[in-house]
Amino acid sequence: MQLPREVLIGNGVLDKVGEIYSGFGFKTPALILSGPNTIKIAGEAVSNALKEQGFDSDSFIVESPTMEVVNNVKEVILDSNPGVVIGVGGGKIIDVAKLSSMQEKLSFISIPTAASHDGIASSRASLKGFETPSSIEASAPIAIIADTDVLSHAPYRLTASGCGDVIAKYTSVFDWRLSSRVRGEYYGEYAASLALMSAKLVMRNVDLIVSKSVEGIRILMEALISCGVAMSIAGSSRPCSGSEHLFSHALDVVAPNSALHGEQCGVGSILMAYIQGQRWRRIRDKLKTVGAPINAEELGVDPDNIIQALTEAHAIRKDRFTILGSEGLTRRAAERTAKATGVI
Ligand code: ZN
Repeated sequence: MQLPREVLIGNGVLDKVGEIYSGFGFKTPALILSGPNTIKIAGEAVSNALKEQGFDSDSFIVESPTMEVVNNVKEVILDSNPGVVIGVGGGKIIDVAKLSSMQEKLSFISIPTAASHDGIASSRASLKGFETPSSIEASAPIAIIADTDVLSHAPYRLTASGCGDVIAKYTSVFDWRLSSRVRGEYYGEYAASLALMSAKLVMRNVDLIVSKSVEGIRILMEALISCGVAMSIAGSSRPCSGSEHLFSHALDVVAPNSALHGEQCGVGSILMAYIQGQRWRRIRDKLKTVGAPINAEELGVDPDNIIQALTEAHAIRKDRFTILGSEGLTRRAAERTAKATGVI
């Protein structure tokens, strides 16, 4: 199990980065990865907080998150020899930090600027340029510093998307249990409960989240971090990624760059809950309340894309058994599911 050693959530916790850095015993400068916008939103504040404690830092701006950029960052690491890589930004920048630090055997600190999905707290990374559209194993952050002041100023669409990724755990945990019964796969009750509890907490607090209150964003962030911890405990993405994630990955192939990860997983969760015989209407209603997409139109994809993703989802990861089975849905069944749930 790889777990973060320090998790800080709250207003203004960015100022604490220097103290945490010093607490870990790092002596050498840090390498801060951020995006063109997130450098202004939080990257500079992180660099200043380090300076106050007497630590220098180098900065690298990630323009687009690809494997090529990961390789560029690795060269920077070899040149500047930092003590730690700090990823400041959305999920993609954090993924670049996660992968480059792991490949160069360095620790990394995650400083998310949006509560958009659980990758900000997990050891999983997904980047363009891999052979498979699903995520790969990297290292878990040694610290997560989530400033609720920064997070609550992120575009609300990202927050709603984060809710979709958490609510999706209803269907992913169902699939995990199913696989343990059908295939005898290892099933960890503790990791499963943690993922499920996160989904329940977010469902219960959608009103707080949609009101854009600091309390709401804090609950969502804690849920996302708990999901990351659940994956660390399970040693895989199993508790947090089932058929709804396969659907989202399939949609990424069928209709690339249409919607956000959490938005697609949310709609996937409505569809899969229907097939699983779970209370799909409740999932749909909560997603609607929180302002996340609940159908093809809101996702910005064609009805036919939904059908195609539904029929192809099972083939994304052959090793991951879900409610879709090894044969997947027939076109007729996919159509029926999408229509019955109002997704198309
Ligand atoms: Zn996810």
